[in-house]
Amino acid sequence: MTPLTTSKLALLGGPKSVLADQGDLFSWPIVTEEDEQAVLDVLRRGAMSNHEITVEFEKDVRQWFDVPHALAYCNGTASILGAMFGCGIGKGDEVIVPAHTYWASVLPVLTLRAVPIFADSDPVSLCIDPADIARKITPRTRAILVVHLFGHPCDMDPILDLAAKHDIKVIEDVSHAQGGHYKGKLLGTLGDAGAFSMMAGKSLVAGEGGMLITRDRNIYHRALAYGFYVRFPGEASDVDPELLQYQGLPLGGFKHRINQTCSAMGRVQLKHYSERIAEIQRAMNHFWDLLEGAPGLRAHRTCEPGSDMGGWYNPMGLYEPSELGDLGIEKFVEAVVAEGSVCALFRYPALHLHPLLQKADIYNEGWPTAVVHAAHDVRLQPGDLPVTENSHQHLYAVPWFKKMRPELIAGHAAAYRKVAENAEQLIG
Ligand SMILES: *Cc1c(COP(=O)(O)O)cnc(C)c1O
Repeated sequence: MTPLTTSKLALLGGPKSVLADQGDLFSWPIVTEEDEQAVLDVLRRGAMSNHEITVEFEKDVRQWFDVPHALAYCNGTASILGAMFGCGIGKGDEVIVPAHTYWASVLPVLTLRAVPIFADSDPVSLCIDPADIARKITPRTRAILVVHLFGHPCDMDPILDLAAKHDIKVIEDVSHAQGGHYKGKLLGTLGDAGAFSMMAGKSLVAGEGGMLITRDRNIYHRALAYGFYVRFPGEASDVDPELLQYQGLPLGGFKHRINQTCSAMGRVQLKHYSERIAEIQRAMNHFWDLLEGAPGLRAHRTCEPGSDMGGWYNPMGLYEPSELGDLGIEKFVEAVVAEGSVCALFRYPALHLHPLLQKADIYNEGWPTAVVHAAHDVRLQPGDLPVTENSHQHLYAVPWFKKMRPELIAGHAAAYRKVAENAEQLIG
């Protein structure tokens, strides 16, 4: 293939590809006077710890996702814990989790005295590999937790089939993918429960916050009882008497209430969310369309009909060094940054090998917490999850465009293409 650009790379003293002022191309969250007024109203009323705005926010979320139950949390980590407790996870239960994710998807398993069973990832979607889930199901498996990583929907059909066959709950961590779809269905509504973060860096922002959504009344009641003593049972009807007897105190000893300044902001953000992520999708798809055919570079996106990447949180590209004369990814990233674009190495610590999941005895039980309640020692060794362990060699964070500005996006795509097509300048 004839290179489209033959100019000298900026890293070697050539001209940069990206020079223009980027304006609001990357600004996020988009905060307007509407957000400010909503937050000011809560502040001026001193209503931060009440729940009347939060209840309205939950109503908005129920309508948006078309689910009967939504519960707002102080953060996403707490919402995942609530979802797991809601699903009945307890001592010794095995929960199949991806090893390649942010820690908050997994560590609530330890809080519940359950056992995380790590599965490997798919090298293309980067999400949990259904074939590895199938290999790891045992009679003790109680739930599968999936993460739609960096906005990419997990392959839910085989996962839901496995869950139905073995009578296992499915919890979706939607922190990277609020508003994304899998085969026409909103992520977070396919499993038994969906939970997600709304901290300031995510695509759906409340400031700090989390949300649990579910169709299952029992999951909702259990989550409410676990961390919302002021609101339980509240409006909830037909609550199991076993749970009801504990009203007045939170069953988990946790206080999961969200600050209402965040609920107020979340309401305004959600109102504009569909429109804003539609623009993000146009912008991100445009960037990757411009890079079609560039050697060594692959979009991390879905082509499945009816599926999409939601707000395209923390977007990634996949790297094939064999197409670039084995150019190391570090050098590639350095060269794209030198062109004036945005590019970064990315790595979540491999959770299954981290000391916290290998040896920490968090609750002084005389044995590592991750396996103290396991049927046998399920800890993994280096090499056991090869896709997860090697993922950082194939991943780079790409610009997260919030606006469809074709001229500016073209500059970034040109930077990536220039480095990819002139990789030989960096070798030898
Ligand atoms: C951010 C994040 C969380 C935790 O959310 P917080 O609001 O920060 O507690 C959970 N899971 C994933 C995948 C995340 O990226």
